[in-house]
Amino acid sequence: MRGVVFDGRRVRVVDDLAVRDPGPGEVLVAVAAAGLCHSDLSVVDGTIPFPVPVVLGHEGAGVVAAVGAGVTHVAPGDHVALSTLANCGTCAECDRGRPTMCRQAIGRPGRPFTRGAEPVYQFAANSAFAERTVVKAVQAVRIPEDIPLTSAALIGCGVLTGVGAVLNRARVDRGDSVVVIGAGGIGLNVLQGARLAGALAVVAVDADPAKEALARQFGATDFLTSAEGVRGILPTGADHVFECVGRVDLIRRAIDLLDRHGQAVLLGVPPATAEASFLVSSLFLDKAILGCRYGSARPQRDVALYAGLYRRGRLMLDELVSAVYPVEDFEKARTDAEAGRVARAVLTF
Ligand SMILES: [Zn+2]
Ligand SMILES: [Zn+2]
Repeated sequence: MRGVVFDGRRVRVVDDLAVRDPGPGEVLVAVAAAGLCHSDLSVVDGTIPFPVPVVLGHEGAGVVAAVGAGVTHVAPGDHVALSTLANCGTCAECDRGRPTMCRQAIGRPGRPFTRGAEPVYQFAANSAFAERTVVKAVQAVRIPEDIPLTSAALIGCGVLTGVGAVLNRARVDRGDSVVVIGAGGIGLNVLQGARLAGALAVVAVDADPAKEALARQFGATDFLTSAEGVRGILPTGADHVFECVGRVDLIRRAIDLLDRHGQAVLLGVPPATAEASFLVSSLFLDKAILGCRYGSARPQRDVALYAGLYRRGRLMLDELVSAVYPVEDFEKARTDAEAGRVARAVLTF
């Protein structure tokens, strides 16, 4: 079968990939569509260290092809969105509703794929850039069949991360003020999360003026090409500032924009050894800096919520899909994504 493999030097679309059958507690999914997220490119450029060779992709949707022993919540033919959280479901963190903190879900890459005799790693417990992939049962979330799979594909990373950061981590409240730095795939979802939460002022900041229309469509009440102007709109600062770019100077900027009791939420991913600095006094008055893994998501609950909001016209998915490419055109999708020409490029299989 076909898949997108990074061997440590190059990314290639191969057609000699195989995946093993699902074991107990696992689901085999025929991937229909998968979004190209910045984190996939971060594996290629080394920002996210990952063993190779590896099948890329970590936000996808498809149809259940087979289930292993003991899997009862989905059956062959069901449509599913895939999460990247291979959490155990039985530890204390899972039990208290924090599957993103499950230690079983981090840093244990499996190798369910092969090319010839060579095992190939699975990225983010997911590898959606393959015609078929094997995931743990908890990662396959059933979705209604009337949601286009090209749109559902984006729930598993961009939407869970962006909307989840607003609703689960920051807990933005009605009337709050929100600044979103970076209006790419994650930033747009933060914007629509802020709208869902009832934020009053939602200021999008992106150096690219071409992002304004989409940012406003997703919920921005104001759009700026530089954070310089935020104080003109919010003189006392913001209740929540989301950094969605991953640059240390913008992290500093996010902290400097906080109002009393404000919080800066860090969603962008700078290089693993990057250090940011800030004035300690800028955290006085109950301000906070929050990390956030994967939107602090509980995928079985959150995916169902976002699917339901989409079907009622309250959450935008179709609008996130700026271009669809057959997997063979991965290189073009990558070029367009790197150039910022698309909010989300979606590959189809
Ligand atoms: Zn992602
Ligand atoms: Zn666990």
